[in-house]
Amino acid sequence: MLRIGLTGGIGSGKSTVAQMFIDRGIPVIDADQVAREVVEPGQPALRRLAEAFGEDILNEDGSLKRSELARRAFVDRSHTEILNAITHPAIEDTVGERFAAFAEADTPAVIYDMPLLVDKNLHLEMGMVIVVDVELETRVKRLTESRGLDGDDARRRIASQVDDATRLAAADLVIDNNRSLEDLIPQVEKAVEEINRRVAAA
Ligand code: ATP
Repeated sequence: MLRIGLTGGIGSGKSTVAQMFIDRGIPVIDADQVAREVVEPGQPALRRLAEAFGEDILNEDGSLKRSELARRAFVDRSHTEILNAITHPAIEDTVGERFAAFAEADTPAVIYDMPLLVDKNLHLEMGMVIVVDVELETRVKRLTESRGLDGDDARRRIASQVDDATRLAAADLVIDNNRSLEDLIPQVEKAVEEINRRVAAA
């Protein structure tokens, strides 16, 4: 099974591109979605978070009060490390299970949509890496328009991630998302052809 990492900086259009792959029959494991699932009520990671950060991070119905967790976990580096030490292994285990289930079902190729793929060196575990690339100012503009972030916040978030040159250096294939959504379609179709070629050659 070909494991394909799909990544890009915040606001680069990963989710948009991932949906185009799904529409063309290539399944996607969404790291952000898995990150939400592992802190759902009843999940061991949620219990451990409550033990580490206090029961006040839970709503009355037992669900996670994200704003409260963020307030407590992002005060300094050591608290953020505690958060990551609880959530990251849970996410990795779940993603591993998803890959295993796809392999079991003889799925030829699976995409892992992961914002921090290169930041966390996970690209080394992939058979192919696709990077969605967009100029900084375009990303800031899209993030402010679609997410309601202010420009400074968008720039700060972008700066906290691995730089574009490092991410691009890990790419087998780059999708340029500087132009319209329509402009993505032929690029995604070419990427699907390349995936099929690699699957057939394996
Ligand atoms: P995040 O890193 O926050 O998960 P992302 O990389 O998944 O973001 P998207 O959510 O796909 O990015 O895109 C960010 C925003 O930019 C969305 O509102 C999306 O509709 C918009 N967008 C993506 N590509 C284009 C494009 N080519 N033209 C205009 N808007 C776009």
